[in-house]
Amino acid sequence: MSDTLYICGLKVERSQKLRTYLPVLDTKTEIPVTIINGQNDGPTLLITAGIHGGEYPGIAAAMELGRDISPEDIRGCLILMHPVNIQSFWARRAFVIPEDGRNLNREFPGDVNGTLSQKTAYLLSQFFFPLADFYVDMHSGDIHEELHPYVYYPGLPNEEISEKSREIAKILDMKFMVKSMATSGAYNYAAISGVPSILIERGGAGFCLREDIDAYKADIRNVLSKLGLCSDPIQPRQHNPSDVSNVIYLENDTAGCWFPNFRSGELVKKGDELGLLTDLFGTLIKKYISEQDGVVLYHCPALAAPQGTILVTYGKFAAE
Ligand SMILES: [Zn+2]
Repeated sequence: MSDTLYICGLKVERSQKLRTYLPVLDTKTEIPVTIINGQNDGPTLLITAGIHGGEYPGIAAAMELGRDISPEDIRGCLILMHPVNIQSFWARRAFVIPEDGRNLNREFPGDVNGTLSQKTAYLLSQFFFPLADFYVDMHSGDIHEELHPYVYYPGLPNEEISEKSREIAKILDMKFMVKSMATSGAYNYAAISGVPSILIERGGAGFCLREDIDAYKADIRNVLSKLGLCSDPIQPRQHNPSDVSNVIYLENDTAGCWFPNFRSGELVKKGDELGLLTDLFGTLIKKYISEQDGVVLYHCPALAAPQGTILVTYGKFAAE
């Protein structure tokens, strides 16, 4: 990379930190970004938080990392967006961008002439992904999702990209990782375009706990070391992720009141009752039974479960 970074009309000199609002193409929406151009040449790491605006710990971690890291601390370039989905953040809206009701993480590579979600996806995929040597997308359980920390890495791109992504996933301090075969997510699209990438899930249910923010920051500091943006040694972790496979995203086909029997991180056995769906008079609509032994990655803690809610997400845990 040349010493000066140019992107979307922004200019960041070597050894400079820029904190600004980046307009989404021809809209009035502006994304808060921090770009830290390190003292010496090195890799470029792109970090996005808040592609879903109600997923707070990653957003807070990115804000604080952007504030605390100086150009003298790194080589290469660190780009942070916090949050990408600023509209949903202020609206406290789960999953979608309020302007168009679309899930930004299902819109990649986006469309320059499309809706706000599609333009935002286009901005990232056309201008930011090509700059990045690695991409980290920070999520959480959304406002109505209670979640145990885990990380996705892409399984669809070529083996080299998938393996480079997995190598970074493996240094995170969490028990579980999932190989994703999806194509439409931001990190999936980046990986298909040739950029190794991961999506981290930590915290959720509308909380922004200090322990989740700090755990996020510790993971990102280790990622910086592993990628060579900083020379600090990788810090010891409590957990090493093991693969979770055959992940089932259990949805309800009719609206109802949801009474879950398991929390995230708990183990389930095949045949266990995962939870009950009732009507508003407490009469049973459906009993949900586990199809396999596994671990619950996240679940819906809300009583109100509109049709199409992901009630429980669980997968086979390799270490069992
Ligand atoms: Zn998310």
